[in-house]
Amino acid sequence: MTQASLVILDREGVLTECVAPFMRSPEEFRPIPGAFEAIARLNQAGVRVVVATNQAGVGRGLFDMATVNAIHDRMHKAAVAAGGRIDAVFYCPHPEEAGCRCRKPGTGLFEEIAERYSLGSLVGVPAVGDSIRDLQAADRAGAQAVLVRTGKGRETESAGALPAEVVTHDDLGAFVDDWLKRAA
Ligand SMILES: [Zn+2]
Repeated sequence: MTQASLVILDREGVLTECVAPFMRSPEEFRPIPGAFEAIARLNQAGVRVVVATNQAGVGRGLFDMATVNAIHDRMHKAAVAAGGRIDAVFYCPHPEEAGCRCRKPGTGLFEEIAERYSLGSLVGVPAVGDSIRDLQAADRAGAQAVLVRTGKGRETESAGALPAEVVTHDDLGAFVDDWLKRAA
């Protein structure tokens, strides 16, 4: 396992359409067109894909872990249906006011991922997100922050104040095409 063979993805706004304020049931699961096919293309190139997601609704009691697991089950099945695989899902269940280290823009989830894959650092690992929190967490963790214009991405782009090293693509498919071209 090397930094070049791992990609970290946010869930809502990258893989699935955003549901405001929280996705509370698997019935609300809507794949973003092309996103799961993009995961399959990464896998075919020998790249593993993991998801890092804030799930504050759990900590606020809005839905339970069984619901999160049911949504993630849908997500795993969508990946398989597209010919791909999500290796693992890392999530923070805490509400913002808990002040935990794992909620993005904190770096705890990224540190867990580095540890799980025995990577000394995440330098060179792309982390794709649509919100400023995703980009800040990626940047602080030493990963390559990638902004996509799906979900809240366009708002995030026009709000500015992005980390200096951010690269931007229209959607996950466009990022993956570019990433694999560079790796070839
Ligand atoms: Zn947390």
